[in-house]
Amino acid sequence: MQKPLIPILAYHKIDDRPDFGVTSRKISDFKEDLHLLKEHGYQTVTFKELDRGEDLPSNPVIITFDDGYESFYTQALPLLLELGLKAVVFIPTAFAGYENDWDVQWGDHRYRHMDKAHILECHRRGMEIGSHMVHHLYPGFLDDRRLEYELTASKEQLSRWIGDTVISLSYPFGKYNARVVSAASQHYRYAVGQSAAVLVNGRLSPLFLPRVNVYRMDSPHQLIKKAGRARGGIFSLRDRLIQKGAWASIALQYYKQTSERKTGNHAQAN
Ligand SMILES: [Zn+2]
Repeated sequence: MQKPLIPILAYHKIDDRPDFGVTSRKISDFKEDLHLLKEHGYQTVTFKELDRGEDLPSNPVIITFDDGYESFYTQALPLLLELGLKAVVFIPTAFAGYENDWDVQWGDHRYRHMDKAHILECHRRGMEIGSHMVHHLYPGFLDDRRLEYELTASKEQLSRWIGDTVISLSYPFGKYNARVVSAASQHYRYAVGQSAAVLVNGRLSPLFLPRVNVYRMDSPHQLIKKAGRARGGIFSLRDRLIQKGAWASIALQYYKQTSERKTGNHAQAN
């Protein structure tokens, strides 16, 4: 029998405000997610623990957060610590302490990202810090040199900020191709996407691990079911279809950058 996979949950924001996308999780739902995970016997692990080859608990789960929003620090971290849980947070380094250009909401409401001090505090509190590259660009569009820069500069910057190694990566928009994976494998031990499992010779590669996306409309009980199915390698068609929507965010980011370059108004973060 195939060994169960470790479900890797993908969160973004923990925020009660209405959101244009579907990846923002309400605070009360997040709290219930964590309580239910514990009730179902899940124990959190990190990529660093996997890498050290430590004995894993019988029902491990990896909780990940993309983008390093400030809401991780203000909402998620206190709840995780209260329940003795760990998470992995993926940071696009150019946006640390700033708002981003790909997640624009109605009325131009924007979301702020954790700054250096927040990131260091998360690391000190036992969270794993991973890379989400520098500028959160779709990696498939970058030429080799730029791709190398985005992969290495984010890793080096984060290592300096936290005084520790960085071994995990989340591909921006959850997307990658063979060239991107090969470049990432030179610098990272683990990398996560957002699509369903891709098997190489019948096995999962640690360089493109599938995740369970957590959506605003998932009830905490549905999330537990999704995590359970992911242990058996099953990812829902609905979630895969929603993930196709990431292309809309990629298109919006490029449209905005092109029009900002035309008006000479492109903010250079870091
Ligand atoms: Zn992202």
